[in-house]
Amino acid sequence: MDPRAPDLPASDWPELKPGWVWLCGAGPGDPGLLTLHALNAMRQADVIVYDALVQEGLLDWAPQAERIYAGKRGGKPSARQRDISLRLVELARAGQRVLRLKGGDPFVFGRGGEEAQTLVQHGIPIRIVPGITAGIAGLAYAGIPVTHRDVNQSVTFVTGHDRLGEAPAALDWAGIARGSQVIVIYMGMKHIGTIAAKLIAAGRAPAEPVAVTTTATLDAQRTIETTLGTVTEDIAAAGLEPPAIICVGMAVMLRQVLDWQAQARGEAPRDLDPLDLRRPAETG
Ligand code: SAH
Repeated sequence: MDPRAPDLPASDWPELKPGWVWLCGAGPGDPGLLTLHALNAMRQADVIVYDALVQEGLLDWAPQAERIYAGKRGGKPSARQRDISLRLVELARAGQRVLRLKGGDPFVFGRGGEEAQTLVQHGIPIRIVPGITAGIAGLAYAGIPVTHRDVNQSVTFVTGHDRLGEAPAALDWAGIARGSQVIVIYMGMKHIGTIAAKLIAAGRAPAEPVAVTTTATLDAQRTIETTLGTVTEDIAAAGLEPPAIICVGMAVMLRQVLDWQAQARGEAPRDLDPLDLRRPAETG
């Protein structure tokens, strides 16, 4: 037995029964961030319905399972979503052990709630297996804690995209700008210019630190540190592509001491106390 991948103890693990659908988070990409419940599900599934953000390599842990790709590739997203939910209903009714595997956490900006709702409405029994969400883990892999006592007592997770693919009009950006010390933006790449402008218009400083982390937790992970005033140009200049997590706030400064991946490569921390909060303010 490979000691790095200890076998699950035989008892105490729930059985994925025929006719059930388990809606599982697959984490942000690094296979080690899958939960044991998700692994247990993968070992039992007859069929795995997975999204674009799920690393296909993970599916090798379920060689017995049929794989159905349900990523969205253009088309009408809401109609497609309905098709996916109904496909899950059909598979369950056919007596399959169905694993619905979604990137990150299924209930965080992942439409897991909608799928679960359709399943329950059709009388299909479900289990929800939470996953590690990109907005927390992706930043952790970049060396940014989403809370820190010296920085923030709250964190706000927002989507940069609404149903129509626009910067969400329903969000009170001015309220978020005033009330949220740290803002973590999912799906923010397309509209970051609009979002940054709204935050600045509502009083956030153009010099406020921003980090953008793409393909977080995977080998291809990249992070840039920028500011609210320059984030759009800097993303373009760096040639960053989605998926990306964008973090706005002083928490980004902590990367100077906590970029543990850079340190593992032999780089020294850039500053051991980047917030400088304990030093008296300089005068004159
Ligand atoms: N349910 C997922 C989020 C799905 S929405 C979760 O909990 O993580 C898709 C968005 O998630 C992407 O546009 C991006 O903002 C973010 N995301 C997912 N995986 C990511 C990754 N590996 N690196 C950076 N961002 C990621």
